[in-house]
Amino acid sequence: MPWIKLPATIMLALWLSCSTVAVLAGPLPLAEQKHLASKGRVTMCVDPDWMPFEEIDSRGRHVGIAADFMQQFSKILATPIELVATESWSQSVEYAKARKCDILSLLNESPERKQYLSFTDPYVSSAVVLVARNDVVYLDGLASMSGKTLGIVEGYVYEELIRRDFPDIEIVHVQSMGDALKKVADGEIYATMDPLFIILRQIQELGLSNLKIAGHTEYKNEFRVGVRKDDPLLLSAFQHAVLELRPELKNQILQRWYTVRLEHGVDYRLFWQVLVIVMVIFGVLIYRNRDIRKFNLKLEEKNRELERLSSTDFLTGIANRVRLDQELQREMERFNRYQRPFTVILFDIDYFKRVNDRFGHQGGDRVLVEISNLVVQLLRRNDIFGRWGGEEFLIICPETRERGGFEIAEKLRMAISEHDFPLPLQVTASFGVLEYQLNQPMDQLLSWVDHRLYAAKDAGRNRVVDSTADGPAYAG
Ligand code: GH3
Ligand code: MG
Ligand code: MG
Repeated sequence: MPWIKLPATIMLALWLSCSTVAVLAGPLPLAEQKHLASKGRVTMCVDPDWMPFEEIDSRGRHVGIAADFMQQFSKILATPIELVATESWSQSVEYAKARKCDILSLLNESPERKQYLSFTDPYVSSAVVLVARNDVVYLDGLASMSGKTLGIVEGYVYEELIRRDFPDIEIVHVQSMGDALKKVADGEIYATMDPLFIILRQIQELGLSNLKIAGHTEYKNEFRVGVRKDDPLLLSAFQHAVLELRPELKNQILQRWYTVRLEHGVDYRLFWQVLVIVMVIFGVLIYRNRDIRKFNLKLEEKNRELERLSSTDFLTGIANRVRLDQELQREMERFNRYQRPFTVILFDIDYFKRVNDRFGHQGGDRVLVEISNLVVQLLRRNDIFGRWGGEEFLIICPETRERGGFEIAEKLRMAISEHDFPLPLQVTASFGVLEYQLNQPMDQLLSWVDHRLYAAKDAGRNRVVDSTADGPAYAG
């Protein structure tokens, strides 16, 4: 069971026990200190293409989550950790076997790997999901991949696990996760798998719009440091470093890399800079009275950008309330003219005040952004999703009856409650679902769906309420 699902009290206990261990670990024992001093440095192999966990960048430096952790470990051990560069993960594995490097930075433990490596306790963990093309229906775990092709980077631990647990899946070797995702998008392979936030980042970077998170797997990554098996003192030194690392530092590292994605949001500074430059160009152009048409095109583009910004929620980048109002109006007109059905879903995060209380307003904001990203991935292209206000979100589902809306809401509810947030907490939300009725005023539509949302809250939260629920006669 993922630790994130544990009740708050147990989580608190775990949290405390982590810090207690850190305090108890104390200074590095003398034997390990001497051993490290005589070695002088520790050599390390890494995955050269696995952001945000790690990569070797264009200047040959190790960067990413693992690199930040290694920097901390190096400080704790007072010993430099030197990168041994490789071309691919499988080459890194070969190097580790041949003892060309002392450690592998970040990997899962497996029986095969245990033949040549010893492992520390895990220092980063992350759930693994399946990605397939948009036209694939939901994949209910790896069992539903039986007889299908699954792309796996050569040397990744998934292969060993799948050959053992799901021998009917046809494994196809790929160079890297980027390669795997491109092949899935092209239809060469059916699906691939990796931690959710690696996948989101890669899909975004590669601009592959026809992919989706198609389901969960039974696996969870528990990343550890892999240490050459013939060096038990080095292992106990790294185990010491892993235990010694303070939880707040660990969270800082994870949050830093986690929010990289969000920094692409709305960059007003860049917008104004561009606008000022464009204005200067404008003056020069008028003065010279030439190339004005070209400039006008640019200005138009900036105006479109400005229009987009005015209909976008600043924090999450999804539609704001202004845009949702417009879209609701449009759907109501379509209904009244052509009788095309549509359904609205209103949801509100449960006990969100507690999130702010525990993790500060910034932590709360991060959860809002994360939920928006998650929901965007799960919705259909035509659905309109926006922030209604605070921690309340509205979805307009065109061409959808109430039953369909209920199923979508239920899918979102489950995804949110099972999601691995970068903060140690479980988040749930309550949902109201309502199908629009002929000639219904917008105010009434919104107040009825709000009633259902609050019926869901009253019934204990983390649930979906539609017209089948008991309660006041607002079913229409
Ligand atoms: P419940 O869902 O069960 O009603 O509990 P709740 O904690 O959500 O209760 P309530 O709706 O009263 O509290 C909502 C909180 O959301 C209060 C407010 O401080 C917080 N909030 C609203 N907008 C934002 C925002 O943009 N960022 C953050 N971090 N917090 C926000
Ligand atoms: Mg709330
Ligand atoms: Mg609220």
